[in-house]
Amino acid sequence: MSRQLRALPKAHLHVHLESTLRPDTLTELGGIAPPPRFDGFAAFLTHNAAVRECLRSAADFARVAYEFCADSAADGVRYAELTVTVAAHAARLGVAPSVPLDGVLAGLRAGMRDFPVVVRVLLDHSRRRPLSWAEATVDLAARTPEVVAFGLAGDEATPLAPYADLIAAVPAVPMVHHAGETAGPGSVREVVELGRAVRIGHGFRALEDPALVAVLRDRRIPLEVCPSSNVVLGLVPSLRAHPLPALAEAGVVVTLNTDVPSIAGVTLTDEYESVRTVFGWSDSELAGLARAGVEASFAPPAIKDELRAGIAAWLESSPGPSGR
Ligand SMILES: [Zn+2]
Repeated sequence: MSRQLRALPKAHLHVHLESTLRPDTLTELGGIAPPPRFDGFAAFLTHNAAVRECLRSAADFARVAYEFCADSAADGVRYAELTVTVAAHAARLGVAPSVPLDGVLAGLRAGMRDFPVVVRVLLDHSRRRPLSWAEATVDLAARTPEVVAFGLAGDEATPLAPYADLIAAVPAVPMVHHAGETAGPGSVREVVELGRAVRIGHGFRALEDPALVAVLRDRRIPLEVCPSSNVVLGLVPSLRAHPLPALAEAGVVVTLNTDVPSIAGVTLTDEYESVRTVFGWSDSELAGLARAGVEASFAPPAIKDELRAGIAAWLESSPGPSGR
């Protein structure tokens, strides 16, 4: 007997706008279809670039953001932080970074009006791109109320040092960087020590360094773990081999996310379903996982309270007789 995971109120902290497009939207906007499966990270990057090309106008960004709200609400996600790489889109389109962001925000406003979900934005920057793009992105993050954090993404093996001054200059902007996904534990240590990370995108390779695991545990720095993405992109051989349970066992705060739902072909509910079936987690442990996502989020206090209460009510509800 187990409870429906779609009904579990969830917070979704790591999800990229370009990897949320519905297949029909992708076809309509750009005439491309997602390949049935990827053979490695390089194939993903090529596909991702093609998807970006499909997003041209502010209306395109608004549409994708609106559909993200609809799909999130249908999946039982009550709060999400959507990652958008505004400067890269702006450079490609020859517009100011505020143009794609304004499109996204308009779509989110309409989506939040029509569906029971709250969505905020996390702005990221690829480390290999010009520093000036990062400066423009941080500037937007600092002056846009709907933007909750800034993060460095892209090639994790590219040193963070050139960004250290910029990061130190905006103490009010929370930092959530990608690390420990494609690069080893050194990249995780770097975002903690130099990058002022308060939460980490992926970070699972920290497990290779016990001293670093202790730092994450003691400082309560949550990891945004995305098992299906890691498997589909060839970074972990299988869900069964995923380090999520080992990280939790070591006392690290883990949250569950999809990263690239349209690529991995999963929703957040599917990810919770996998944790239940592959790792054998109980409903009480799954509720704890959902709660960790709420606590690690930048959601307004009232939304956090609502989600905490919703998760508690889910756990108190009686499990369905069908086992679903
Ligand atoms: Zn990511």
